[in-house]
Amino acid sequence: MVAPRFRRKKKVFRKSPGKKKVVLYIREKTKPRRCALCGRKLGGIPRSSGSELRKLSKTQKRPERMFAGILCPSCVSTILKEKLRLDAGKIKRSAIAISHLKYIDMIKGESKRKKYTKKKREKKKTEKPKKKRKAKKAAPKESK
Ligand SMILES: [Zn+2]
Repeated sequence: MVAPRFRRKKKVFRKSPGKKKVVLYIREKTKPRRCALCGRKLGGIPRSSGSELRKLSKTQKRPERMFAGILCPSCVSTILKEKLRLDAGKIKRSAIAISHLKYIDMIKGESKRKKYTKKKREKKKTEKPKKKRKAKKAAPKESK
């Protein structure tokens, strides 16, 4: 049985200076991450794994951009352009590729949530205080 510390490592045969065959155990690098839309290699992401990744800070693991680590910068720019044109009404939804729509909806989803929460907050502000005021006003009158 291979010792546990060597299980995840790659066996490499090399010749030592004394012309002896030596087995080296090398930790393999992971494959570079690729763009989900065009498949281009993504930059700014380390090819180390596991314990080596854990040592890095958050900003060293991926760029600080929208869809960083998922899409390449050119795909992000096309998606943002399409989203703007959709909002302006210059393009119909059917004219955009289905694979792009997923990411456009991700951007839209945030704005929808914000609107929803704003509405909820406004409702709470308008509804709750009225009830409390009525209760407070009613209570002291009875006591007096
Ligand atoms: Zn891409």
